Amino acid sequence: MTEKFIVIAGAGIAGLTSALALAKYGVKTLVLERNEQIQEFGAGLQIGPNAHRALNALGIEKALKPVSFEPEGVDIYSFTQNKPLVTLELGKTARKRFGVPYTVMHRADMVETLYAACKKNKLIDVEFAITDFEISNIDKSPTVKYKKVDGETQELSCFAFIGADGVGSITRTKYLNGVQAKYSGYVAWRTLIDIDLLQDVINLENTTLMWGSGFHAVAYPLKHRNVVNVAFFTKETMSVGFGISETPNLPISMKNDPRLSKICSLTKNWTHWPLAAVKTPYWHKGSVGLVGDAAHAMLPFQAQGAAMGIEDAVILAPLLASEQNPATAFNIYQNKRQERVNRVAKTSQSNGKIFHMTPPFTFARNSMVKIQGNMNHYSRLSWIYDFDPTK
Ligand SMILES: Cc1cc2nc3c(=O)[nH]c(=O)nc-3n(C[C@H](O)[C@H](O)[C@H](O)COP(=O)(O)OP(=O)(O)OC[C@H]3O[C@@H](n4cnc5c(N)ncnc54)[C@H](O)[C@@H]3O)c2cc1C
Repeated sequence: MTEKFIVIAGAGIAGLTSALALAKYGVKTLVLERNEQIQEFGAGLQIGPNAHRALNALGIEKALKPVSFEPEGVDIYSFTQNKPLVTLELGKTARKRFGVPYTVMHRADMVETLYAACKKNKLIDVEFAITDFEISNIDKSPTVKYKKVDGETQELSCFAFIGADGVGSITRTKYLNGVQAKYSGYVAWRTLIDIDLLQDVINLENTTLMWGSGFHAVAYPLKHRNVVNVAFFTKETMSVGFGISETPNLPISMKNDPRLSKICSLTKNWTHWPLAAVKTPYWHKGSVGLVGDAAHAMLPFQAQGAAMGIEDAVILAPLLASEQNPATAFNIYQNKRQERVNRVAKTSQSNGKIFHMTPPFTFARNSMVKIQGNMNHYSRLSWIYDFDPTK
């Protein structure tokens, strides 16, 4: 029997994880990436136990450890209050409860680690600086024609094609006739701040989550980089695209919080990040399928977008490896995944509403969170974190 060969568009988290997962089953892959190299793009990521189980199975936990940090807990503050409403326990408690850690890391470190593992694997090739690709014969064995930045074109045929090309996926819009990503009304203002500058501002052993009226803030340390990842989330009816800004455009009231105004005073380097979502039931057509944000970009308010892409990869790989018809594999994968992914996306959406509540609803919310206590998330979110995508 000849070795199966699959082409993947996108060397992001979902694409590189897919390549590693397929290699485990002896499937050869070529990953096509439009950037000239792995990009220092994005900022912090929280990686939940469900994703760690998959990363474990791919053998990259050891390499991820030095670039990860395990926060001891999540301090949830109501805006302007000095004492957290509650501190949700993570750290050792999470490790004991789930058997794997709950960590934070920089997206670039995660992608670099995945890429390093791909480079070591003889079954994986990654081609950078791809300016265009075309797929034909998508109902059977696809033919992929791609162009490099130097004008050279290549044509090859493969068993299947995976679009891991992110929220703006060409695979989805052009080859699956799928929807365009939709702006959610939320934007993130992201920055990294020198860890020493925040010693007395927030607890640097924990993640900080601060709820305000119409906004929320998240901050956690990326200790091996000596920085704190900060993201402010606000609403904007009309969003200009990505951009770098000296100051974030925040609701005036946000600056009433001394911690947030201190953070704003410490840097003049903010990224304005409009948050878009993708909702489509069509994750494949014939032998072309989608993974990660290309299939289901979601709001980041449950910190599970990348985790869902990692889960996709390890669930799809054995199906593509074992099925004779890739359409059957994609169909089983789609049926297995959609209910869970939609539920996570819905939870993220409703977290946005809860985090941004205005008085008087905030009183009920805050009392409830206090009553539920510091272990509540283990039962409330067990359906997310207990899930083992490798089984
Ligand atoms: C503010 C914010 C906070 C977040 N926090 C978390 C978190 O805490 N935890 C979590 O799990 N998730 C989080 N996420 C979500 C997470 O970042 C994404 O879900 C994840 O990065 C998506 O990975 P991906 O590989 O599917 O797509 P991407 O990371 O977008 O990768 C797609 C790749 O495809 C390439 N590409 C695109 N088009 C083409 C083309 N035509 N040809 C070739 N290559 C192409 C791109 O260059 C890129 O390398 C957050 C997101 C945001 C915005």
